[in-house]
Amino acid sequence: MDRTLFETEHDQFRTAFRTFLDREVKPNQERWREAGQVDREVWRKAGAAGFLCPWLEETYGGSGGDFRHSVVVMEELSRAYESGFAMALHSDIVVPYIHAFGTEEQKQRWLPGCASGEFVTAIAMTEPGTGSDLAAVTTRAVRDGDDYVITGSKTFISNGQLCDLAIVVAKTDPNPENAHKGISLFVVEANRPGFQRGKRLHKMGMASQDTSEMFFEDCRVPVANRLGAEGAGFMMLMQKLQQERLCVAIGAQAASEKVLEDTIAYTKERTAFGKPISKFQNTQFKLVECLAKVEVGRAYVDKVTAEHVAGKYLVKECSIAKFWLTDTGQEIVDTCLQFFGGYGYMLEYPVARAFMDARVQRIFAGTNEIMKVIVAKQLGL
Ligand SMILES: Cc1cc2nc3c(=O)[nH]c(=O)nc-3n(C[C@H](O)[C@H](O)[C@H](O)COP(=O)(O)OP(=O)(O)OC[C@H]3O[C@@H](n4cnc5c(N)ncnc54)[C@H](O)[C@@H]3O)c2cc1C
Repeated sequence: MDRTLFETEHDQFRTAFRTFLDREVKPNQERWREAGQVDREVWRKAGAAGFLCPWLEETYGGSGGDFRHSVVVMEELSRAYESGFAMALHSDIVVPYIHAFGTEEQKQRWLPGCASGEFVTAIAMTEPGTGSDLAAVTTRAVRDGDDYVITGSKTFISNGQLCDLAIVVAKTDPNPENAHKGISLFVVEANRPGFQRGKRLHKMGMASQDTSEMFFEDCRVPVANRLGAEGAGFMMLMQKLQQERLCVAIGAQAASEKVLEDTIAYTKERTAFGKPISKFQNTQFKLVECLAKVEVGRAYVDKVTAEHVAGKYLVKECSIAKFWLTDTGQEIVDTCLQFFGGYGYMLEYPVARAFMDARVQRIFAGTNEIMKVIVAKQLGL
């Protein structure tokens, strides 16, 4: 099916980004996976080439595109099997908080560096004791004159080693009766005393992603670093989480498509019992079933993306896209991996890594169970 989501400018952007991936990403992927993180320098190169925050206005150092430019970046990273270079997390999940809720002074202070790659960003919501139940965070931010003093621990934070700025979710009012109204957001520079990066976590997949712990010990942050009003943190998170869910869905869809393409090609080459394995009816039926899932998923996610770009606030649709495309994506990758036989279990084969990368998509950005809780609420259940 022809896609109608993009204009010519997005197609040109895709061509340019593919060239960037060929030059600056693909030759380094194996080394990054071994190192557990991408090179800091690739962020600056991506910024210099206009691939970070491509939707950001030129006045803040962006290139004045739209969310569809970001979609191109997400899709092409998935197609390159690059799951650790968290450009979407930075450009489309973290930076939008500063853009939407920052004061003019904060935007001038941080956005140009976010677009250039001078600042790599992270968002620190999850804690060792709570993830899904965000209102239960225990990290505290206590007002002291013109500062807040932040104390607490975070875990599973993407870009944890490389980030220069982290948006930290903290309680400014610990009264459990005000659980939602007690949350505020702070932009914390990684060089502030009291900010400490913990260890990079060993994960099943996403080998080149520096997911880490983070600690705050009496970390003083000026009031000027608070995003939005005190106590408005939960409301801001709820507003911006739709795009986060959609980003995961977009990445999962592109990964499913790429794995299926590569599997179809492999089954045409690999022979058994004197013929290509693509000639077995089981192979054909399974691959056709995968194709049906991919095509249905593509139609849905493009429609949701188009409406999101048009400015609609899509709670139900973004949640459905997230859980359905990541569940389906995992089924597709599992089915495809089987056609690679023993090679499918070898890490040098992208399909093996795609299998492990797919698993986390059902967990992060809100678990798939939480997505169903949200949709159920939308249905008034
Ligand atoms: C690789 C990776 C990267 C991540 N990056 C970040 C990041 O950058 N920033 C960040 O803040 N966090 C990040 N996370 C954390 C992630 O968002 C959380 O792990 C996720 O939200 C789940 O929280 P939890 O791990 O505490 O699980 P829990 O909340 O303890 O959930 C455990 C199980 O209980 C289920 N459950 C919980 N509540 C309900 C309910 N009401 N109804 C039904 N079932 C329920 C869940 O679905 C899950 O199956 C990352 C995680 C990973 C693995």
